[in-house]
Amino acid sequence: MTTKFWHPQALMSTVKNSEIVLVRGEGSHVWTDNGTKLFDATAGLWYANIGHGQRAVTEAVSKQMDELETFHTFGAFANPMAKDVCERIVGLAPMGPDASVFLVSGGSDAIDTAAKLARRYFTATGRPEKRVIVSRENAYHGLHGFGTALGWMEGNRAGYGDLDPDIIRASATDWSDVEKVFANTGPELIAAFFCEPIIGAGGAIFPGQEYLTKVRELCRQHDILFVADEVITGFGRTGTWFASERFNLDPDMITFAKGVTSGYLPLGGVVISPKVGAPFWDDGSEIPFKHGMTYSGHASCCAAAMANLDILENDGLLQRVTDLEKPLAEALNSLDDHPDVVQIRSGVGLIGGVVVSSPQLGARMEADLLERGVITRKIGDGSALQVSPPFVMTDDEMAWMVDQFRASLNAVS
Ligand code: PLP
Repeated sequence: MTTKFWHPQALMSTVKNSEIVLVRGEGSHVWTDNGTKLFDATAGLWYANIGHGQRAVTEAVSKQMDELETFHTFGAFANPMAKDVCERIVGLAPMGPDASVFLVSGGSDAIDTAAKLARRYFTATGRPEKRVIVSRENAYHGLHGFGTALGWMEGNRAGYGDLDPDIIRASATDWSDVEKVFANTGPELIAAFFCEPIIGAGGAIFPGQEYLTKVRELCRQHDILFVADEVITGFGRTGTWFASERFNLDPDMITFAKGVTSGYLPLGGVVISPKVGAPFWDDGSEIPFKHGMTYSGHASCCAAAMANLDILENDGLLQRVTDLEKPLAEALNSLDDHPDVVQIRSGVGLIGGVVVSSPQLGARMEADLLERGVITRKIGDGSALQVSPPFVMTDDEMAWMVDQFRASLNAVS
């Protein structure tokens, strides 16, 4: 009897007979149902920032569940946890004290929220022609309606017919191409530019400070909203609360999810600058943002976020990321002399990619590393292997992980 569980992003004809069932986690490790211990080199899908099995989160959620599991927040309803977490995130984000936060259930929700709000902002301010959204080659912005159209990893777009025609693509690394795309489209028609400060699923690609600075400036010149998709980079992965702070992006919106709870419960959101919020929040406004989810501001998910943020703060985990940035880059760079290593992508926080000579080799290494006790993942075109460990990874664990990569390269290439 095969499973009834339809896995995301999976070839079910194979996976139905080869599930890897995980039953326990602690720190940087998880265990399968037959007792195999695996090092989580990816922090799940880039989310387990505080690592697995932190009891304080469980206790905070349990306490909230006992009091009020949740109550919806449509209209005027609120709960203390939702209010607290929004206030706290505004305090951490580089958008000033008058920013606001729209809470949703995950990263794809956050992307759809930001895309709709970008267009709604311009209709609300009398410029409805500004509705084109520009996103980048190799981008991944989740897999809801807008996210599918905003992402340019071809496999994720195929088979759905025409996607939103007002979403167009620009280079992820060459700012002059972005300038051209803006000019050819007509900047007066463009609402927003969506940008992962470091492309994650598309291959752990850092476009460089110059690209980010120039594109940010182009957006400012043309009144195009700059949306930083920080679903991966938010909550410490680059050593600051948000990559927007580290790279001085001054975003109009930040999308977040994953690290806000380290994955203990589903939560995402958008931090919204005062400028974008004003048409909706200003006294006398008659414009509601007709958008939201049943679980926007879910009290127990917000309790998980508060406990997670406590751990990130109290355990000095952002500093830990900063401390590990260089050693991780050096350790990964030591693989570079292998003939099948094409490129090492590293050097910004705990985001890395080991690029090997072919997607086939990437697939073989992914499987071989699992045998050796390391969970990694093929990203980009399949030839890059993801390295994005939990912030609680020890020095010894890091050295062991990189040793396994070396052994795997020697074994399968
Ligand atoms: N945006 C980015 C940059 C992501 O990496 C992801 C998920 O990996 C998403 C959006 C979508 O998040 P979710 O899977 O929580 O819907």
